[in-house]
Amino acid sequence: MSERDHKVQRSGKVFLVGAGPGDPELLTVRAVRVLASADFVLHDALVSAEVLAMASNHAVLENVGKRCGDRAVRQEHIHARMVELARTGFVVVRLQGGDPPIFGRAGEEIAALAHAGIDWEMVPGITAASAAAAAARISLTDRRAAAQLIFMTWHRAGEGPALEIPAPPAGGATAAVYMPSGSYAEIARKFLEAGWWGGTPCIVVSDASTPRQCVVQSTIGSLGECERLPAPAILIVGETVYLSGLVRARIQLEAAARSNSLVTV
Ligand code: SAH
Repeated sequence: MSERDHKVQRSGKVFLVGAGPGDPELLTVRAVRVLASADFVLHDALVSAEVLAMASNHAVLENVGKRCGDRAVRQEHIHARMVELARTGFVVVRLQGGDPPIFGRAGEEIAALAHAGIDWEMVPGITAASAAAAAARISLTDRRAAAQLIFMTWHRAGEGPALEIPAPPAGGATAAVYMPSGSYAEIARKFLEAGWWGGTPCIVVSDASTPRQCVVQSTIGSLGECERLPAPAILIVGETVYLSGLVRARIQLEAAARSNSLVTV
């Protein structure tokens, strides 16, 4: 190890790493490399065991996932732990599901690291909306249907006002609702009140990219009657869901036609 490397090692560093939606194959190459060099991995509860298995053999794994009732304390604990470990000279991976800056706690963590003068780096991950789109085989911004992609979260942990759904913009939009923890009927009502058409197609994708993945298609008008899928789940709303459905239907029709012609030949 050169003197320069030694110095870098001595001063430690924190990597804010996106663990993606669950499938370890959806980690970035950089995330895999950083995990392989980690001394400590501070991870959220949602991060899958398969992803954690990518950490170096010597890495200490610490679950810092939030627990009910003591969220604020836990977050401060995470900040203090990252700073303490980096100052001791360790390579610290702060591993969060999906992409850390999307509805995660990366903002507060960046501020804490910057305030403490710790060297840090962000390694982005695949966010749940992208994984859900892949699972349902839809294009989130199919240009025939959506000029905007809106990421929103239903759950704000009691902070701030209840979610306001924006009116559907001219040119169309796809809305990705993270943490749809209200009842589906309540969420659908909010969309209808905001002016979205009841026939607007939507999907709920649960556990995207994992063996437990489940996709349910509906419309805003009938979402309230859908059976609730287990968490983590994400709701995608927009005409693009319908367009992709048409593509799937056409492929099936073409396949059926092909097999018919094989029978007749
Ligand atoms: N930073 C994460 C989101 C954290 S909020 C990201 O970029 O994906 C947690 C929410 O993300 C969950 O409540 C759920 O709405 C969504 N989510 C995370 N993983 C998911 C998965 N595998 N399938 C579906 N939704 C998921």
